[in-house]
Amino acid sequence: MHREIIINGTAVLPGENKQVVFSKYELPSQSVIETPAYVFRSIHEGPTILLSSGMHGEEINGIETLRQLIKHESIQKPLRGTIIAIPVFNIVSFIFSQRDLPDGRDLNRCFPGTKTGSLGSRIAHDIMHNILPLIDFGVDFHTGGARINNYPQLRCVFDEPKNIELAKLFAPPFIINSPYRDGSFRMEASKFGKSILVFEAGESLRFSNTAIDEGLQGCLRLLKNLHMIAIDLPHPHTIIIGKDKWLRASEAGMFRTHKKFGAFFEKEEVIGTISDPYNKNECKLIAPDNGFIIGINNKPVVHVGEALLHIGIEK
Ligand SMILES: [Zn+2]
Repeated sequence: MHREIIINGTAVLPGENKQVVFSKYELPSQSVIETPAYVFRSIHEGPTILLSSGMHGEEINGIETLRQLIKHESIQKPLRGTIIAIPVFNIVSFIFSQRDLPDGRDLNRCFPGTKTGSLGSRIAHDIMHNILPLIDFGVDFHTGGARINNYPQLRCVFDEPKNIELAKLFAPPFIINSPYRDGSFRMEASKFGKSILVFEAGESLRFSNTAIDEGLQGCLRLLKNLHMIAIDLPHPHTIIIGKDKWLRASEAGMFRTHKKFGAFFEKEEVIGTISDPYNKNECKLIAPDNGFIIGINNKPVVHVGEALLHIGIEK
């Protein structure tokens, strides 16, 4: 039989489900923030998977996805392996519905972190030391930034073949190539040979049922396809995006699109319009290629050069 795992001094035995605090810090009020991980272990050996969200405190779709996951009946007794679910990495920012930490730092640029550094650096250090060594790979849940709405998509590095393989087991609507960013969890985890895929869905501070459902279904599908849980789920078609770019406003004004989010469009199709408030000018946004709308800026009034639609071209 495989052995116990230890998280921050607490043992979790095969066949056990446990809530474990993996990171802890004090606020100026002396209140202590304890960050829990929910661990579900089978008595049978298998992969250890991390499912995490709330790296950015205002990205609540992933947090709701993992809230639904940890109470889901199918994961209470995994058939093999271990599931580690962390619904909120960044609790202090979550409390204030903010992206960044109180000192203005982005937690996802603080990796690998240090024990004695800034708050973000300490949280990153705890994730790297208490969680990363235990896992084989993970999926980290995010949403678009302010007013940017992402159609549910998994982001990974295509040059690493294992990434695409894992992403296909999750089967999101879109899989997108996304290079590493310095200081990110994904990049630092890759240095230890561990793939962290990033699921991006919806918009910050706004619940999206599509984003939450796609996230939950994807987690369950991934676990099912790895024979860790038994569940009946459809395996939808995934579109692999080879190239993506933001179409920007060539003129200032009010932007609108009649295209459905996630929809296909053809080259030279009019996919949006920018008008001034007095109907003097109207500027058409023409599709440069065949593609899909994978992200949208929900801000109606735009300046010249502002990002409007994130488009993806199938590989
Ligand atoms: Zn994020």
